[in-house]
Amino acid sequence: MTNPYSQKNIGQGSAPAPDADDRMRLVAPIHLRTSTSTCWKCSNLTQVHAVVASDVVDLGESGQCRTYVHGISNPSPELTQALHFLAPNLRVDQPSDDGVLRLTNHCSHCGAMQSDVYLFAEPGAPFFGRPPEGHLGAVILEHDVMVDDASYST
Ligand SMILES: [Zn+2]
Repeated sequence: MTNPYSQKNIGQGSAPAPDADDRMRLVAPIHLRTSTSTCWKCSNLTQVHAVVASDVVDLGESGQCRTYVHGISNPSPELTQALHFLAPNLRVDQPSDDGVLRLTNHCSHCGAMQSDVYLFAEPGAPFFGRPPEGHLGAVILEHDVMVDDASYST
């Protein structure tokens, strides 16, 4: 008699939360990539970080590839806690006008917010395009995590 449900897969087949369809699932393992950027305010070189998901399931659709995820809205406590130790500059600010808490990078010298546009969206930005193949930075979470909203490369 073999048990068709290995220990490893427990949880994957469980019933989704009622609001699961409205949320975005970041697929594990979730890595952290670190790079450097020049602060727009104090001109010092500062460490910047990007969350890398093995896949993003958005509205039930899988992107089927590894992607940077940024602008994460209302991150779960386990995600902020994991980042707190490994990437203290990637944190939430005061809620924006719409009451949303978003994960953003901050200068390690002066604390100024480092806009995602200059880290992810422009050619030449440290996290532009897709994460490289092969080795990434530290694994921050070994299981999937749900987020309210986020931006990711498609
Ligand atoms: Zn600065």
